[in-house]
Amino acid sequence: MVTSENERYQSKTIIISTGLKDVLPSIDNITDYYGSSLFHCPYCDGWELRDRPLVVIISDQVQGFHFIQTVYNWSKDLIVCTNGKTFQNSSQKNLLQNKGIKILENKIERFVGENGQMEKIIFENGESVLRKGGFVMPQLVQASDFGKQFGCEYNPLGGIAVDSFGRTNIQGVYAAGDASVINPAQLIIAAADGVRASAGVNTDLTQKDFLE
Ligand SMILES: Cc1cc2nc3c(=O)[nH]c(=O)nc-3n(C[C@H](O)[C@H](O)[C@H](O)COP(=O)(O)OP(=O)(O)OC[C@H]3O[C@@H](n4cnc5c(N)ncnc54)[C@H](O)[C@@H]3O)c2cc1C
Repeated sequence: MVTSENERYQSKTIIISTGLKDVLPSIDNITDYYGSSLFHCPYCDGWELRDRPLVVIISDQVQGFHFIQTVYNWSKDLIVCTNGKTFQNSSQKNLLQNKGIKILENKIERFVGENGQMEKIIFENGESVLRKGGFVMPQLVQASDFGKQFGCEYNPLGGIAVDSFGRTNIQGVYAAGDASVINPAQLIIAAADGVRASAGVNTDLTQKDFLE
């Protein structure tokens, strides 16, 4: 393996643990707020944002409907932004409206706030709404293409397909963490997955040495 700084490494096995990249909707200054008052995981950050006026920005209405319900569990002061898309499902729309959840379909232009703390959402049509944070559904993609370069198979969610010891379909190549788990992308699950892959590496190398 050669790094971008031209350092060369050789190893008997490799664990791909390069994680995921969150591809956020194209909204001007969204990265200033992502990770401070705008998050992707209600299980990770719902408690801290509880009872605040929140926004849920959805990109996919099927997954989005479940996402909205999860966030509603933390705050009843909720609006949904489809960011330029029409909310198609009329029965879901009715259910949300009956809970007092407004659906705003205009495209978001930018957020207003200080130090990553959201105060207002400005829409492209000039309207605005006061919000103190929220949740967004990013698209999760592999942070590196090492799996592809090695010829690894991927699971339907886009994670590197592994067995219960982190082995990919390519001998000597293992994967762990978000790169293989994908969903749920959680620190403790990624860490536990790393333990499984390292046990896989150790088992396979030990057996190989023993039988030689
Ligand atoms: C905003 C945000 C909030 C979160 N909050 C929580 C939370 O509250 N609780 C929780 O459990 N989880 C949370 N998560 C998820 C958690 O961060 C991940 O599940 C966890 O970090 C995954 O660990 P990992 O080691 O698999 O990948 P990562 O932590 O992503 O580590 C991958 C590493 O590989 C490196 N890398 C990538 N590509 C290359 C390359 N080509 N060459 C060299 N190095 C490379 C990266 O720089 C990085 O250091 C959050 C994630 C985000 C984005």
